[in-house]
Amino acid sequence: MVNIDLSDKVALIAGVQNEYSLGWAAAKKLLAAGCKCIFSFQGERNIPALEKLTAPFGDQVLMLEVCDVMYDEQIEALFEKIKQKVGKIDYLMHAIAFTPRETQENPFVQTSREGWKIALDVSAYSLLALAQRAAPIMPAGSSIVALTYYASEKVVPKYNVMGVAKAALEATSRYLAYDLGAAGIRVNCVSPGPMRTVAAKSIPGFTQMLEKAAKTSAMGKNATFDDVGNMCLFLFSPMSGATTGETIYVDGGYSVMGMSFES
Ligand code: NAP
Repeated sequence: MVNIDLSDKVALIAGVQNEYSLGWAAAKKLLAAGCKCIFSFQGERNIPALEKLTAPFGDQVLMLEVCDVMYDEQIEALFEKIKQKVGKIDYLMHAIAFTPRETQENPFVQTSREGWKIALDVSAYSLLALAQRAAPIMPAGSSIVALTYYASEKVVPKYNVMGVAKAALEATSRYLAYDLGAAGIRVNCVSPGPMRTVAAKSIPGFTQMLEKAAKTSAMGKNATFDDVGNMCLFLFSPMSGATTGETIYVDGGYSVMGMSFES
């Protein structure tokens, strides 16, 4: 067992709704390693759940702040508060995605300009918008991690414009890796297989996806929340010190299969 001590580090986790959120899977690992955490979330309605979730971690939780990533002024305000109260962040966890319901209910070919804009704005541009404000207060050795999905590469029915948004997110992480590399800031994506979260449950046919992914993956099983959290922790920690611009799958080997023989 490797002991990772992050007690002198500060992380900003953007996008935790509840204990089943993948952002929380990463946050739990960071908190267990001693890292101090700041949580940002879309609206005031999230505050009671976040207060309850983070209460056991006491002073390790530095701030709970509203930040709807569709609004530059809210992002500016978040970083202004962080600068004043904390002064730096070492890690940025991007765990945010959204697309209007009709973009996943209707065939992809019917996607509206508005649906496209919202999906790519919230789910991909937000990484750039957050990284842009975070970088000036990130010391060398810092790390940014975003959560993506296989539908960026291959067609996953019903994922639709969210697949396009994930492709944009992954490309964004590579360009950020280049821009921020000289400052010693790394940027990577973690790509979990399907996981039972609130966002995922809104995808039509999600339960079928979950079962099929487990059956046809190389390992015959889906990843767990722990697996995803551990990969995020690895990408934040100095153990991945020369890894940047990568998309790393945590999916039981689903994405490496070219064909499967299901019983
Ligand atoms: P989740 O718990 O629902 O997390 C998604 C978060 O995004 C929620 O906290 C949501 O806030 C937040 N969000 C949406 N619009 C926002 C906005 N405008 N401003 C700020 N926050 C906003 O679901 P999750 O599955 O853990 O999703 C986290 C990430 O993992 C996403 O990028 C998702 O695509 C990715 N991922 C998920 C799976 C999966 O199968 N679950 C697989 C691969 C990748 P509210 O709840 O308050 O709206």
